[in-house]
Amino acid sequence: MFKKLDPSVLERLRQIVGAADVLVDPERIEDYGHDEFSLSEIRRLPEAVVRPETCEEVAAVLELAVAERLPVTPRGGATGLCGGCVPSLGGIVLSLEKMSRIVEVDRENQMAVVEPGVTLRDFVAAVEQAGLAFPPHPGDESAMMGGLVATNAGGSRAVKYGTIRNYVRGLELVTPAGDIIQLGGKLEKSSTGYNLMHLVIGSEGTLGVVTKVILHLKAKPGIMRSLVVPFEALEPALETVPLIMKRGIVPLAIEFLEIEPIVLTEEHIHKKWPTKLGRTHLLIILDASSDEEMDRLSQAVAEICCEKGAIDVFIADTPSKQDEVLAIRSKIYDAIKAGTVEILDIAVPRAEVAGHVRKVREVAEKYGIWLPTFGHAADGNVHTHIMKVRYENGAMVPVPESEWRPKADPVREELFRDCKARGGVISGEHGIGLVKKPYLSIVLDERQIGIMRGIKRVFDPHGIMNPGKIFD
Ligand SMILES: Cc1cc2nc3c(=O)[nH]c(=O)nc-3n(C[C@H](O)[C@H](O)[C@H](O)COP(=O)(O)OP(=O)(O)OC[C@H]3O[C@@H](n4cnc5c(N)ncnc54)[C@H](O)[C@@H]3O)c2cc1C
Repeated sequence: MFKKLDPSVLERLRQIVGAADVLVDPERIEDYGHDEFSLSEIRRLPEAVVRPETCEEVAAVLELAVAERLPVTPRGGATGLCGGCVPSLGGIVLSLEKMSRIVEVDRENQMAVVEPGVTLRDFVAAVEQAGLAFPPHPGDESAMMGGLVATNAGGSRAVKYGTIRNYVRGLELVTPAGDIIQLGGKLEKSSTGYNLMHLVIGSEGTLGVVTKVILHLKAKPGIMRSLVVPFEALEPALETVPLIMKRGIVPLAIEFLEIEPIVLTEEHIHKKWPTKLGRTHLLIILDASSDEEMDRLSQAVAEICCEKGAIDVFIADTPSKQDEVLAIRSKIYDAIKAGTVEILDIAVPRAEVAGHVRKVREVAEKYGIWLPTFGHAADGNVHTHIMKVRYENGAMVPVPESEWRPKADPVREELFRDCKARGGVISGEHGIGLVKKPYLSIVLDERQIGIMRGIKRVFDPHGIMNPGKIFD
């Protein structure tokens, strides 16, 4: 169905974006064939990488791609974990890295306007400099704003402040027909027809290319405090989470962690976690507008934890203690990356987290595989890691590929089926991409997938936009 990119098309691309921004040299395009998903079998080199600087250039590239029937895969920071930006059918990788201007931070309306290639790191810094805040904080700051919108990224603060979707107020989208359309605006309300903007959020580059984003900003937050709460067993720790919420306290984040990844991360970054007691820990991060409110919240949360049998409650109340705890949480990925095959991001109702994690442990036992599991307990988003190593005496010990590889698929499928049985979804924040596509029908029925296919055809009748992702 798709054609190969011939020299005349390359020449046209060079005319659109300039010769320096059409890359074909194997060494230079090597990095554009993968994202953060670990297994090399999903990698594929594009035929060309194109780096536009304006939405008009994006539109011209898409028009050409439709005329020549070439697949186009948009790419942001490539921090995705399911192969979403991998050009699995070849063709063009459209890298948005050069569209990296923060167009405006509008203090009056508390809105920012950014291009898709702005990194989360740069965006947060600019917003803070303007005395405002952007609360969502997915774990990798090199993710770009276009990618964050395309995956509807979440992160640990979603329980209190929502996901990226809750902050997007407007999008500029280039459709595969080469039209540049403006969706939404600097608006807090809109009931004006179908909401195409929300359809595009989370569409993983399959409907068009996001070339501008308007984001809602919040007033600067007050103070933050982290509580580290060890429990002997899994159930009481996880059952504490819905209880805190039921009592009317909404922390900035509640992460649950197992002791093994903490130990590995301490070693990896040479920092200390406040305690080694117990096997399951809660990291509860609170925010408040005054010291009095913070003390009251901390006290109430500590009492609930003790009621559920917490061994102790450690408070990181100085900036340095707080930094140490948050650094360990955010570096777990780096510490265990070398032994990780895949990070799942199943989301279940909050009260089902304990049951699901219990199932993870049963599956780990049944298959004889290490499945460290932690995540955003308060919003039901569980990150089980399928590992190709085992944990032994504070270290990761490699397992032969012939042992772990045949287990990965059945483990993934059993956990996806458990999530379905609990009313959950197979992706709470990373998206479906390439890797979870075979499992979509576990949680969505054929009618829903059929409607999605129909929507895709309306936006992209020739099927050139990130083909092969989410569904076939
Ligand atoms: C250490 C680590 C921690 C992470 N923590 C979190 C977390 O807490 N929460 C979370 O949600 N995710 C997390 N992620 C996953 C990842 O960071 C997010 O999925 C992020 O949104 C991807 O953004 P990106 O710019 O890297 O996109 P990419 O990986 O480049 O692309 C992702 C998808 O978006 C599409 N896309 C990219 N740009 C555009 C555009 N301009 N227009 C249309 N489509 C586009 C691509 O085609 C692809 O389908 C983490 C990843 C890592 C490595």
